[in-house]
Amino acid sequence: MIKLGSHVSNKGDEMLVGSVLEAASYNANCFMVYLGAPQNSYRKSFASFRKDEFDQLLKEHQMNIDDIIVHAPYIINMANPDPEKREFAINFLTSELLLMEQLGFTKIVVHPGNSLGDEQAINYLKESLIKLLDNTKDTKTMILLETMAGKGTEIGRNFQELAFLLEGLPKERVNVCFDTCHTFDSGYDTVNDYDGVLREFDEVIGLERIKAIHLNDSKNPIGSKKDRHENIGYGYIGFETLLKFVYDERFKEIPKILETPYIDGKAPYKEEIEMIKMKKFNPKLKGEH
Ligand code: FE
Ligand code: FE
Ligand code: ZN
Repeated sequence: MIKLGSHVSNKGDEMLVGSVLEAASYNANCFMVYLGAPQNSYRKSFASFRKDEFDQLLKEHQMNIDDIIVHAPYIINMANPDPEKREFAINFLTSELLLMEQLGFTKIVVHPGNSLGDEQAINYLKESLIKLLDNTKDTKTMILLETMAGKGTEIGRNFQELAFLLEGLPKERVNVCFDTCHTFDSGYDTVNDYDGVLREFDEVIGLERIKAIHLNDSKNPIGSKKDRHENIGYGYIGFETLLKFVYDERFKEIPKILETPYIDGKAPYKEEIEMIKMKKFNPKLKGEH
């Protein structure tokens, strides 16, 4: 069975209980959540996450906690040339990983960071990662560095940068989240050469390091570096290529998470999951785009 889900919310009084029910309403068997608002570092008390009910609901819906992915807030920049801001990022992520451990989550997607134009930033980032791993060495948490679109000064815009970051770090602690929109946007031609791009990833990093896939179409042509997600089959990547990721035997055990935009204020995930499972594009999901 394919592992397919979407980003879901984790808020109000429902918190993680609401997350599971939302995912189940889309017929998903995995999902991704933020542990607070995506743009800040405020976190509610442990009790408010409703862990016991969450665990119970996961069981009822036959979802495995290892397929449920946490996403770190956007503001975190472990590459920041300002050492104080870097320290803030490391400390925040340390507490986020400790909270994950308490809640039972094992995987967190992290945007590697922004260099802000400083050539040393990728080295700072690597030091930050080492510190973060050391701070959390008693946990079972795994960091998934996301492939980025290369917007602005984003680090992780190509496989080589990610390979540099991963080199020498423990495989049980640091791996990759492959975002289909971002890689295409940064210039990898998965549309015309799916196999070639994955072969390159395999040579530079190793396909076994992919532990999550963000399944998104792109609003922009290859190499645009704009990072704007589109609904499945409605963008420049297209339905057929996105299906290749979903049904690739090598990614059988890997959760695929939709982060596509809402349509008319409504989550499109139930319909998108349906069309992916049916392997049939639904041209009525959305009007003009
Ligand atoms: Fe992301
Ligand atoms: Fe993503
Ligand atoms: Zn994105």
